[in-house]
Amino acid sequence: MALLDLKHINITYHVGPKNVYAVQDANLAIEPQDAVGIVGESGSGKSTLAMGILQLLPDRVTTIEGEAIFEGVDLLKLSREELNKRRWTDISVVFQKSMNALSPVHRIGKQMEDVYRIHRPQADKNEAQSRVIEMLKVVNLPERVYRSFPHELSGGMMQRVSIALSLLFNPKLLVLDEATTALDVVTQGQILKEIMALQDQFNLTRIMITHDVSVVASTCNKIAVMYAGRMLEMGYVKDVLVKPKHPYTQGLLKSFPSFTGAKEELRGIPGALPDLSVYPTGCVFAPRCPYATEKCRGELPAMQSVGECWHAACHMLGGEG
Ligand code: ATP
Ligand code: SF4
Repeated sequence: MALLDLKHINITYHVGPKNVYAVQDANLAIEPQDAVGIVGESGSGKSTLAMGILQLLPDRVTTIEGEAIFEGVDLLKLSREELNKRRWTDISVVFQKSMNALSPVHRIGKQMEDVYRIHRPQADKNEAQSRVIEMLKVVNLPERVYRSFPHELSGGMMQRVSIALSLLFNPKLLVLDEATTALDVVTQGQILKEIMALQDQFNLTRIMITHDVSVVASTCNKIAVMYAGRMLEMGYVKDVLVKPKHPYTQGLLKSFPSFTGAKEELRGIPGALPDLSVYPTGCVFAPRCPYATEKCRGELPAMQSVGECWHAACHMLGGEG
């Protein structure tokens, strides 16, 4: 059974009189101990999807529909308070700017202990302190970090603190939203390696949200490719990144040197993301797709099976178009 099963998720922002259809009909089953990379250009809806299912978007300006079944419970039906209890203990999230949430005037150790006590109010000072020190060690931080202030740490160290915080309660699911994007390549590489080791050590299931296909290639077993609010292709990394079926995935991979040689712009697919406030009638990728036909412009392609645990949404596949 999937640990997290996303079914027909739609997320719409309401901006004045306009609607922005940021996520449309997202379906994704995440099995225990999967490492799933959700990849796509900036603005494709990756963060909205993650924040939406964790109820981190403002109610006032957002509508979310569908189901997000986590261990048999629909997260979207929980109250914010109920979901807050599960956040950290069952599901943890690390954002690119997670470290900004830390207070600049309190020592790291003290702040982590305060977080620990929110979910373990009975814990005494010793229990909280030893758990915090243990977690700082797990992410390879030196002991002095416990007594340091945030401004005394490098970006990489701060992101390690965020990861240590996210692991305080042994969550089952860890969501990393561009968590290493702001770091230099060497530090990013080290932290990604550590994250993979932690996954084995803690039996974690992981979602990696990134615009960088190489991060998914090196740290995930499965991939879901998003574009303009829709999932266009998903499957095992070993399949999708080797022989992508969807024209958008093919274009995306061309911009990464490690896959196809010299780095280039998305040359085969000029243009930009469509305006998400206009509800698409056909394939969202049609305006940029070199293979688009009238059918593509008028009819939404269904997600179809193209291999074992491999799906893509394109009229050209399976002799449809
Ligand atoms: P990035 O990697 O740049 O964060 P993303 O793939 O995570 O991109 P989102 O941030 O989820 O994409 O944005 C999806 C779409 O929703 C974009 O068109 C964005 O402009 C729009 N959007 C995001 N937040 C809001 C908001 N608060 N109000 C209105 N539109 C929004
Ligand atoms: Fe291109 Fe048509 Fe396939 Fe969309 S459905 S990706 S426009 S060929």
